[in-house]
Amino acid sequence: MKEVRASPLQLNVKELVRRTGSGSLEAENTNKLTLPKVLWCRHKGNGKNCCFKHMAGFWKHPLTGKPSPPTPCQDDLSMLVAKHHWVWNNKSKKIGITAGALDIFAFNAVTSYAQLGGGEIMLVAGNRMEHAVSLMDRFRPILTGEPNPYIKGTGIYKDLVEEETSSRLKLSNGVEINAYPSNASSVVGRPLVRGIYWDEIAYSGIIDDKPNFNNLFANASNTRADFLGTSTPNGKRGIFYEKAMAIQGLIEEIPSAENPIDLGWYYIEYPYELGLMAGLLDQQTIDKAMQDPMIDFDQLYRCKFTTPKGAFITEDLIRAMEADYAMEDI
Ligand SMILES: [Zn+2]
Repeated sequence: MKEVRASPLQLNVKELVRRTGSGSLEAENTNKLTLPKVLWCRHKGNGKNCCFKHMAGFWKHPLTGKPSPPTPCQDDLSMLVAKHHWVWNNKSKKIGITAGALDIFAFNAVTSYAQLGGGEIMLVAGNRMEHAVSLMDRFRPILTGEPNPYIKGTGIYKDLVEEETSSRLKLSNGVEINAYPSNASSVVGRPLVRGIYWDEIAYSGIIDDKPNFNNLFANASNTRADFLGTSTPNGKRGIFYEKAMAIQGLIEEIPSAENPIDLGWYYIEYPYELGLMAGLLDQQTIDKAMQDPMIDFDQLYRCKFTTPKGAFITEDLIRAMEADYAMEDI
């Protein structure tokens, strides 16, 4: 018989009530800093005291360079994480999901996680520190507003930053954000984790990545932390594929001590059409990719897991995956 447990949402609300005495996530003024009620208001905004995006700044459009409001996809993802907490997202490349995911955790860093008493956000990418640092390079300007190629940030939260290294941000509200490669031994047994984002899971360049998932997930299941995993598919192999199938009930997952039968995961696919609708992809690029025999269109743009050409993942393929990882997402 499957164990039935309280949802992470119920637990978070209970904990919130215990800690704040109100359970309210209303905007409040802490240390003269106005905190937003929502990540994105979905309208033109009412000046500086609006949603997180209007207060912190918009991502630059990858084709025009102009600051652009969140896409429906990014908006949807933020609502899914808020509602389900454990979300596995299969996505077309170049539809802005990494940017949207980083917004979710930046918003939570200044609001709900701080209100829960602080804790850690783990940003996870690739299999080398430089991958992790490059993800942090995209995250940091959301809060600091420092000059960067990705986001036109206002820097409204820069005074919250107490300590800063290339892979770490410590905020004065008790939240700290650390970036890790997915194979780092230091991801094991983190004491108080509130949120985990694992970017481009299927391109981590690790042949057996299930232990990496188990190590990360053990942190999330202890504290009922948010866990968002996103990737473009990369063959019928690895944890990204297995988890996608298991959540949909298409394969049976083998439980382990670190990863007992997972209830409560939510699986969502965002194919390229959503990128077209949002103007992040253009039809010309899509037409060209469709006709290119070297491009696995179904896999890169249609969220399909296709069969890898070789049974064994070679060193060359891993290098190719790493090159792919470096692709610009937005
Ligand atoms: Zn707004």
